[in-house]
Amino acid sequence: MSAGADALAIRARETLGRVFGHAAFRPGQEAIVTHVAEGGDALVLMPTGAGKSLCYQVPALLRDGCAVVVSPLIALMADQVAALEQLGVRAAYLNSSLDARAAAAVERAFAAGELDLLYVAPERLLMPRCLELVERARVALFAIDEAHCVSQWGHDFRPEYLQLSVLHERWPAVPRVALTATADPLTREEIVARLALEGARVFVSSFDRPNIRYAIVDKDAGPRGDARAQLVAFIEDGHRGDAGIVYCLSRRKVDETAAWLAGKGVDAMPYHAGMETAARTATQTRFQREDGVVVVATIAFGMGIDKPDVRYVAHLDLPKSIEGYYQETGRAGRDGLPADAWMTYGLADVVQQQRLIDRSDGAEAFKRVSSAKLNALLGLAETVGCRRVRLLGYFGEASARCGNCDNCLAPPESWDATDAARKALSAIYRTGQRYGAAYVIDVLRGASNERIARQGHEQLAVFGVGANLDEAAWRAVFRQLVAQGLASVDHEAYGALRLAEPSRAVLRGEANVAMRRSAARASKGPRVRGEAATLDPGARGLFDALREWRLGEARTQGVPAYVILHDRTLAAIAQSRPSSLDALARIDGIGAAKLDRYGAAIVSLARGTTANAT
Ligand code: ADP
Ligand code: ZN
Repeated sequence: MSAGADALAIRARETLGRVFGHAAFRPGQEAIVTHVAEGGDALVLMPTGAGKSLCYQVPALLRDGCAVVVSPLIALMADQVAALEQLGVRAAYLNSSLDARAAAAVERAFAAGELDLLYVAPERLLMPRCLELVERARVALFAIDEAHCVSQWGHDFRPEYLQLSVLHERWPAVPRVALTATADPLTREEIVARLALEGARVFVSSFDRPNIRYAIVDKDAGPRGDARAQLVAFIEDGHRGDAGIVYCLSRRKVDETAAWLAGKGVDAMPYHAGMETAARTATQTRFQREDGVVVVATIAFGMGIDKPDVRYVAHLDLPKSIEGYYQETGRAGRDGLPADAWMTYGLADVVQQQRLIDRSDGAEAFKRVSSAKLNALLGLAETVGCRRVRLLGYFGEASARCGNCDNCLAPPESWDATDAARKALSAIYRTGQRYGAAYVIDVLRGASNERIARQGHEQLAVFGVGANLDEAAWRAVFRQLVAQGLASVDHEAYGALRLAEPSRAVLRGEANVAMRRSAARASKGPRVRGEAATLDPGARGLFDALREWRLGEARTQGVPAYVILHDRTLAAIAQSRPSSLDALARIDGIGAAKLDRYGAAIVSLARGTTANAT
């Protein structure tokens, strides 16, 4: 490193500590910060929650002039700016939500060099008037957030993003940093090409989210109520009062599930595209601003959620792909504290997703790609190996067993299911490939019911040959037959099971079948709980008092609670009980501005509670 770069790194660390109150950069951040601060272009690929914002915020403070941050997430700008103002950083935003007077005031401040960071919506920035304004101002750097929005193939495509190459043409000397959490190589190439970033240095972080614990459990069968009971049990087991997101496929199921959870005393609200805009916005705002709100949603709820303390993401239905699963679960635990990604899944889910693909209007090629993506996801659901190894492997990243997923904590067995598979496939065949799993299972288990009697299926050789396995075990077998492509579901015939080509080898005794047997439920492994749960009772009292104080501040100032201080910072304060401003200043998340603004109140709370407790 040159002497200049060394000096820059020192200044960067000083700024990180003084302004943001953080003791050290996270992996990857420092190299990006110094590269951009020196005037280099960068493409930053980092998973959600890894800390992308600092990668342009610190250079913004190190360079002359104001950083212009392009973001499509208008709904977040006010909170992002509020968070920076709390740190004593001069920030503002320009988007369609501002009236003319407020916008004019921001423009004046920008032109006069009174801002460190300006957040702008892309359509706004591209207006000739705004580009002229940029011409007159001194620009420290351009940050292009959510850079994958240039990709015409992605679901977040924004046409205006294609025009952002104008920034490079008009201001070739101003460094640009493009940032995204989208991992796949094709999108990366598109970003480079469309934003003219060929000369940029590419920084790729690991996409691992070590604090997220992945778990995929067998769905209890029966009416939908059973999966919901599983969900409630999951929430009761350590997530009472936590903020969470529950994903469902249909609007109706969203409404029903939200109502059901509310009936169980969970502070849950629905969110889907069929709701009035006002109701949707209200849900999102409550979720973002208050503690412990649960949103039950279709995937319409996603982009634009920037809440750091979401403690779990639960899936009641299968996502379409590993990309979707990863993006949705990635909304948990952005603050780095323990979080859960929990999914319940069964045969009906496989059938439902396959039907959606079959019935879509897409071209054959599209259906083929969709099927391949679904199969990769089913592979993840059925694996007996580490979920994280599988997930990261899908994105081209090698890793070792994680110790923080259900399969690592309670390894499932892989059992030789050849005999069971053969019986199940025969039963499908002998009953004429006209029935769904529930009926075929009854036949296998030798159930005496009217329907079976009417069809004369009691006479079949397969009748009762499966009495050695219980119903749940058979359901798992049928699910895996479909997931492994040995049986298929005929959507034109009310979900009747049929034999698929590869089943022949199994029936002829030429191929074996291995299946996954979930570990017993009881063995969950030691649970790392949220920061607060690890506090001793005395510290817990102070933590609660601090939270109450924070809520008051947040309400008075009209900002989200986490913008005042993060839970993690409150927990650290509760643990160490700083009795002086100096001691408080050493806690992560307490920078100079927050020390100034809240130091006295916090120290007196810490002292007060100490006095009460002793
Ligand atoms: P991203 O945009 O990549 O999803 P953010 O920039 O919102 O992530 O950062 C996620 C969280 O990590 C924030 O709460 C932020 O305060 C915290 N964070 C980022 N960098 C650091 C650091 N060096 N030290 C401590 N906390 C950090
Ligand atoms: Zn694992």
